[in-house]
Amino acid sequence: MTQPEPQSAQFAISDRSRQFRRAFFPSASAEDWCDWRWQLRHRLRKAGDLAGIFELSPDEHQALTRPGCVFPVSITPYYASLLDRSDPLSALRRTMLPVPEELVASHGEMSDPLAEDRHSPVPGIVHRYPDRVLFLVTDSCPVYCRYCTRSRLVGGKAEFDINLEQWRRGIDYIAATGSVRDVLVSGGDPLIYSDERLDWLLQRLHAIPHLDMIRIGTKIPLVMPQRLTPALCEMLRRYHPLYVSLHVTHPDELTPESAQACERLADAGIPIGSQTVLLKGVNDDPDIVRRLMHELLKIRVRPYYLLQCDPITGSAHFRTRVDRGVEIIAQLRGHTSGYAVPHFIVDTPDGGGKFSLVPDHIDGRDGDDLLITNYEGRTGFRYPDPVG
Ligand SMILES: *Cc1c(COP(=O)(O)O)cnc(C)c1O
Ligand code: SF4
Repeated sequence: MTQPEPQSAQFAISDRSRQFRRAFFPSASAEDWCDWRWQLRHRLRKAGDLAGIFELSPDEHQALTRPGCVFPVSITPYYASLLDRSDPLSALRRTMLPVPEELVASHGEMSDPLAEDRHSPVPGIVHRYPDRVLFLVTDSCPVYCRYCTRSRLVGGKAEFDINLEQWRRGIDYIAATGSVRDVLVSGGDPLIYSDERLDWLLQRLHAIPHLDMIRIGTKIPLVMPQRLTPALCEMLRRYHPLYVSLHVTHPDELTPESAQACERLADAGIPIGSQTVLLKGVNDDPDIVRRLMHELLKIRVRPYYLLQCDPITGSAHFRTRVDRGVEIIAQLRGHTSGYAVPHFIVDTPDGGGKFSLVPDHIDGRDGDDLLITNYEGRTGFRYPDPVG
């Protein structure tokens, strides 16, 4: 093994983020920029911070300055460097800057569309499926996605506080529930915690004999890649089999920095799967999804789920029709590597759970044959599938 240089010195800085730092954080050194705690401390949260960087549209300005309790805004300087500064309709910017439509409740929308609170045996645990649980260990994220399914929970006042009592109860629940073989540690974003805290948590989960695997759901490799320090990855690799589910939205997120973060995870032996929420005007286009999936494979992230946007209150401007996801999958399957094709998943409101939608290739039956349309839309293929 090579002796690591001081961490920050060896972290990638793209030209784009270097120019951004010089323009908007002129007093920050390259070392500051590569320090994830500096990134956290300098998050852009207020209309004034944002107006200094982005040409705010009247809608964005109005949404940022309206009074009252609203889902907070937060963008790390690094992630801000990826957003278009003048076009309010550009993909990543739409996912970060609020607009007044967020306050409009449309048909069927709810603050807890998946009825997670109802399937929660102890605070922080959602136990919906027989053999796996979701363990929500934080309500904080370095950035807040406007379409977040858990906007009812995240971004609370007690940002980054740790509720150890709640963690203990969650761990105790999993330890006492022998049917659970898979725990998905999520939030919020679990990787906002210090290495020591995460180590504490993973050690306890890892020690539960009936747990076969641990997953961590995170967006941090894309929004604050500097968090993926060699020390963190060294710690994580002690808890195999450990998987990471990477919440990725758009190819603009794939930069030298995020590639380095994913590479460090992959080099620590951690399989990374992707989860992408399909969003209108952001990524609801077969070419964008294909490009995203190809770029992910290049940095050793395996496409896992393409997710229909949940009907969270104020999400109508983000939601596509369910057919759109199926069409996108139809334009991938057969046309590109199977590894590049995620499952298209809809999560049923009211806690029914996820289901997967696939393009229909079966046209019917002719006696003992199935009649099939192939991936190119050519009909008349047959598969022998005797009825008797
Ligand atoms: C999505 C989800 C999981 C994990 O589902 P997989 O299909 O196994 O990835 C587990 N618990 C809850 C409550 C979920 O919403
Ligand atoms: S990173 Fe995940 S939990 Fe955090 S705001 Fe975005 S969608 Fe919500």
